[in-house]
Order: sequence, then C-alpha cells, then structure tokens
Amino acid sequence: MKNQFCLIFVLSSLFWGCSKENLKPVIDSDLQTYYNAFLKEAQSRNKAISGTDGFILQFGSANGAIARTYPAENKIVVDSVRWKDVSASEREFTMFHEFGHLFLKRGHNIRTLPNGEFKSMMLTYEGMSNVESIHLYLGIRRKYYIDELFDENTAIPEWANLQFDPFPLTNSTRKLVASQDFDESKELSAYLSQFPNAQFKIPEKGILNVKLPKGDGFSLEPNKVMEMANVLPAKRNDFMKSNNYEIEFRYRLKSGTFKYLYSPNTYQNYAIFSHMFNPVSYKISSFIFYFRFSNYTINNDFNTVRLVRKGDFWSVYLNGKHLFYTDVWSADQANQLIFSIAGNEENAEFDLDYFRLYEL
Ligand SMILES: [Zn+2]
Repeated sequence: MKNQFCLIFVLSSLFWGCSKENLKPVIDSDLQTYYNAFLKEAQSRNKAISGTDGFILQFGSANGAIARTYPAENKIVVDSVRWKDVSASEREFTMFHEFGHLFLKRGHNIRTLPNGEFKSMMLTYEGMSNVESIHLYLGIRRKYYIDELFDENTAIPEWANLQFDPFPLTNSTRKLVASQDFDESKELSAYLSQFPNAQFKIPEKGILNVKLPKGDGFSLEPNKVMEMANVLPAKRNDFMKSNNYEIEFRYRLKSGTFKYLYSPNTYQNYAIFSHMFNPVSYKISSFIFYFRFSNYTINNDFNTVRLVRKGDFWSVYLNGKHLFYTDVWSADQANQLIFSIAGNEENAEFDLDYFRLYEL
C-alpha cells in the first residue's frame, strides 16, 4: 500500500505539481467499503464532502477505542484488535461516527430522544454517569441516525415518541395456538433439566416456581418458549416464519433481577427493561442495557410481557405499555428477543404463570 501511494504521488506530482490538494486518500482495502458507503450517503443527500485529499484511513492502535480521528493529520486509525470483535453494523456505526468528526466537523452530542434513546450517532459514552440507553444502529434506526449525521435538525422519528404504539394490543382478534400453563400434568422435567443450577417446583397448579443461585441465569428465547409450550419444533419454525404472532407471558419476581433482552446479533444484548427486586443491591456493570422502562414493573405481583410480531417488525409491551419497536432484521428472528432472569448479586426467585402463543 505504501509503495502504491508513493507511485501515485510521484505520477500526480509530474502532472499537477507537488501540492497537497492532489493527494489521493490512502485507505486500507478492508475499510474502503465504509468510506465509499459514507460518500454515497452524502451524495444521496446532496452533501458535498471536502477534505478528502490526503485522507488516511488505516488500522493501528486506537488507544482503547474502536477507532480514533486525528484531524490535524487528516487521519482515522481503526484499532486492528477491537475491530475483530464488533458486528458489521457497529463497524459502520463507528466509521460513520469518525467520518462525522473529520468530514462533517461534528462534535459529540449526548442528547436523547423522547424515549431515552440517543439522538445522534455522534454520541459518546465517555464521562457519562447517567446513560439511560446504548445506541441501536439497526433497521429503521440506522436510517434516522444517518439522516441526523448529515443534518442535525432531522425531525424526531416516530418510533422515538413515547406515545408511539404501532400495533395496539388486542385480545379479541388473537387466536391461541399453544399454551404452557404449568399444570402438573404437563411434562417439563426434560426441558428444565438444561438448567442444572435452577430449582423448579410447581407449588400450586398453574405456577412454576424457579430459584436461582447468585450469579446464575435463566434465559428463554421465544423458540424455547414454544418448546416449553409443547409446540412441535417443525410446526414452531413454520409458524414463526410465516405468521404474525404474539407471545404473552406472566412472571412474578420474588428476589433477584429480571431482564427482557433484545439480542439482534451474537455481539450484542440490550435489556429493553430490567426489573430489580432490590434496586439498591443492583449495579449497572456494563453498557449492555437499555433500561429506560424499569419503572413500569410491578413488585410482588405478576407482570405481563407481550411480544407482538407483525410482518417485519416487533413490538414489546410491559403491563400494557408499549416499550420498544424494532425491525425483524435477522433471518434468525426467533433468537432476537430473550426472556432472561438472573440472580445477579443475590439469589433469584420468580414464579411463572404461563407462556402463550397466539396467531394474529
Ligand atoms: Zn467521537
């Protein structure tokens, strides 16, 4: 790459003289696609990008960040180690953020949208003690964030309004397909044996009581829930691929922590809400959380979670309140939303009332 650069430099010097303006950008081939994508997004918005002459985009060490911009040198350095550990969407997010610094002269912006999500992809987590969410840069959110990158006055997107409710809940038009009611008659032991540290009992008909030791967790992906609800695997896969559906379940937290996770890919988990039985003992230990809606949970009684899928979108409700809306953007959509109950810093105990699958 260096030799090639020299050659281009020499040739251009012969024809146009030795001025800085004639320096072609020097971009690592693995990063070229992000630079091209950025220019394309700019072009589609009629934004002229200047300052690309002599621009350098290369791998190296970014001092703890995924990438770092050096405006004086017209250079962005991408951390060759950290780059390997981030998803495709996070890579684009990171590059566009840095291009925002360098080519759009944008600084950081930590303002939030009405629903608590970040307003801008020019966000930073540095020096913030009260972060309420981590950015999601997926599907409909990606488009908004790129719009906002090029135009800070971009209107607040519909999905960021608290009143937004794309699929108002209905009880009358949904059709029960499968149900796990935790009657003693239904065989659960084979399924539950995959959680060796958890203790299960059915103290009364219709309630599954679960106890977890401190530090242990219990996660149920929607397809596992289907398994639990005695829907045959083949039928389940077909059903979840081809139908609009709803999953409803009820839990009562007695101690520990409950999280409802959105897991769009193997790199990321976001808690749409966390329910802490004893918030004082609970520390937010990482940036994986999107926990704006914790105050909608009910202690010492049952909470109802409804997950509605219509077409290419999910919507999540807690106790009738709409919380979260996102694209079904992975082929493996069954694994995107996970019910997770964990004894983070204390033993956890909870009751499950039912899991139900409805056709919409
Ligand atoms: Zn930055």
